[in-house]
Amino acid sequence: KTNMLFLKSFMILFLSCITIKINLCFPSIPSSLKTLSIDGHFNFEEVDHAAKDFGNRYRFLPLAVLHPKSVSDIATTLKHIWQMGPRSELTVAARGHGHSLQGQAQVHRGVVINMESLQGPKMQVHAGKFPYVDVSGGELWINILRESLRHGLAPKSWTDYLHLTVGGTLSNAGISGQAFRHGPQISNVHQLEVVTGKGEVVNCSEKQNSDLFYSVLGGLGQFGIITRARISLEPAPEMVKWIRVLYTNFATFARDQEKLISEESTFDYIEGFVIINRTGLLNNWRSSFNPQDPVQASQFKSDGRTLFCLELAKYSNPEEMAAVNQEIKNSLSQLNHIPSTLFLSEVPYIEFLDRVHISEIKLRSKGLWEVPHPWLNLLIPRSKVHNFAQEVFGNILTDTSNGPILIYPVNKSKWDNRTSVVIPEEDVFYLVAFLSSAVPSSTGTDGLDHILIQNKRILEFCEIARLGVKQYLPHYSTQEEWQAHFGPQWEVFVQRKSTYDPLALLAPGQRIFQKPI
Ligand code: FAD
Repeated sequence: KTNMLFLKSFMILFLSCITIKINLCFPSIPSSLKTLSIDGHFNFEEVDHAAKDFGNRYRFLPLAVLHPKSVSDIATTLKHIWQMGPRSELTVAARGHGHSLQGQAQVHRGVVINMESLQGPKMQVHAGKFPYVDVSGGELWINILRESLRHGLAPKSWTDYLHLTVGGTLSNAGISGQAFRHGPQISNVHQLEVVTGKGEVVNCSEKQNSDLFYSVLGGLGQFGIITRARISLEPAPEMVKWIRVLYTNFATFARDQEKLISEESTFDYIEGFVIINRTGLLNNWRSSFNPQDPVQASQFKSDGRTLFCLELAKYSNPEEMAAVNQEIKNSLSQLNHIPSTLFLSEVPYIEFLDRVHISEIKLRSKGLWEVPHPWLNLLIPRSKVHNFAQEVFGNILTDTSNGPILIYPVNKSKWDNRTSVVIPEEDVFYLVAFLSSAVPSSTGTDGLDHILIQNKRILEFCEIARLGVKQYLPHYSTQEEWQAHFGPQWEVFVQRKSTYDPLALLAPGQRIFQKPI
């Protein structure tokens, strides 16, 4: 009994000492932030929101959230923390729209910068021969689309979902069905304004401070905070012809996809997805997609087979409709899909680009949006994609899928190898995205644990079969894994980190570097 009492007293004393030590070391962090002269404000109480993301699996509470009104608010804060040096443990995460999957925009007991608060200068569209738009790093792509459409223009390269910020997608790559032609979003930026980990505000482009420019693009938030970006635009179409055709054979499907991205393609958007063990599928499409031949289509039975759906879009304007229809007809006649499964739809351009938001509204109304999202995104070299498909769709995921599985090829020539993003070595590689949603607290095949096990099996297969796969939106826990991910690019990545963020203040939620203390 005496021993127990002694142990208890000792523990209390020990914990008190630790608390006193922490307070002695960091008595002034919140108050020192409070003394900064800024246009916006810090919030030290309502910080819960910054500890959440779309993945819904990780929660790190920050000490404070900065709601910046100006770029100088961000620079002042970063400079202040940089000047505190390694003696403080404070780190900083820019938070775009918080649609990361594993806490990448979160920071434990640090400062989150709420980029959407960043105001002005106002978005500015520049028309002319090479049109572009200047936007804030915290701007949502949907707002850029709306504003540029008022000038008859639009960005060239997209993500499937537009309620993401410019800074958030440019820190990764920004890939969608336009990437085969225009490259990812990081290939469509002319210029950036960046606040580095030392609090310096730097303009950069291909010509000016080019090393910083390419570091930041695809740089996972490690080198600076993007406060402004100049995005390339093109004339916007009014309408989109949206087409889906089905295949039962992966090789035929992939051959057609690769043919379409390699030539001077008729289509402006090329994607594809996998359909596992679903019946009644074609009926579900009827509301928005019409079969070209309804009688034949009604005879098509999927019988629970795994199907591959090629999804195409052709931009058009009313005056060119006849020519466009003919062009589409010619192109489709060269494909080898199941003839009865040609489905068509025609929608306004903005509706096509903002299509995932319509699903979001539906899912939110059913309480199915804010669930755990154990997503897995892979980039697979063309020569290995058949091997991958055989094992994954023929063995690992045969019964069901817990969300869309996208699969489509892109051309490496449209990616700039000076950026920080890591991609496979071949000229053509596939994005395969397992966009799973887990049913909270389910222990079945729709539960988080089951999906994570499946993801692990897929990753292990890629590793064992040496497919040369790279993760997109990568997530690792150890520096060794990061080093393997970057491969020969690791040294440059580390060098860039020591130049632009030597104290490793930025985006600690990526778990690549730790602040030296
Ligand atoms: P956040 O989650 O807020 O931040 C992501 C990372 O970037 C963090 O490390 C953060 O610190 C850093 N960061 C944020 N802002 C800045 C800034 N201004 N400067 C520097 N660093 C910054 N991706 C695709 O490529 N194609 C898709 O089709 C696609 N579809 C998606 C659909 C949905 C429904 C969701 C949830 C995600 C999708 N993504 C897609 C992934 C998405 O591009 C990334 O998750 C992106 O990071 C989210 O942007 P965000 O503004 O929410 O960033």
